[in-house]
Amino acid sequence: MSAVIPAASHSQPPHLASRPVDPRQVEAVLTQHGYRLTAPRAAVVEAMLRHERPFTAEQLVGELAASRATIGRATVYRTLEILAAVDALTRLIQADGRPAYLLGVPGHRHHLVCSECGAAVEFTRCPVDQLVGELTRDTDFAIHDHLLEVFGICPTCQVAGHSADDPRF
Ligand SMILES: [Zn+2]
Ligand SMILES: [Zn+2]
Repeated sequence: MSAVIPAASHSQPPHLASRPVDPRQVEAVLTQHGYRLTAPRAAVVEAMLRHERPFTAEQLVGELAASRATIGRATVYRTLEILAAVDALTRLIQADGRPAYLLGVPGHRHHLVCSECGAAVEFTRCPVDQLVGELTRDTDFAIHDHLLEVFGICPTCQVAGHSADDPRF
């Protein structure tokens, strides 16, 4: 795919993933998987592309309700599931344990999530592969998936936190 890469990603290490920025990219992926971009789905796609950070399904339901779009909650949830299934979105768990979505790119990913502001960095290098191999050998489970989220405080929030704690401010 001749993907439009956001300018910021040029300086990123290769194991950090870039994200779709264009509704046409998402439409192409949906078509590839046999889904049509109906008007309600297009509205959901448009709303999700405005999110650089992880968002919840309820957040999107609220935003769409606030706009003129009349799209049912079930349609929003179903569309997000489809978008996750075709890798246009990634599911992740936020620091508070709530599930959320993040614009995604195809492939296996993990996330580093800021527990203050929710900012997420994706990484594609999987540190779990070897463990999965060992668990398969030791337990005879047919392992098909795993989750790994890493939580911390992003650089911006570290600076903000220090300012707030500093009595001079
Ligand atoms: Zn942060
Ligand atoms: Zn992994």
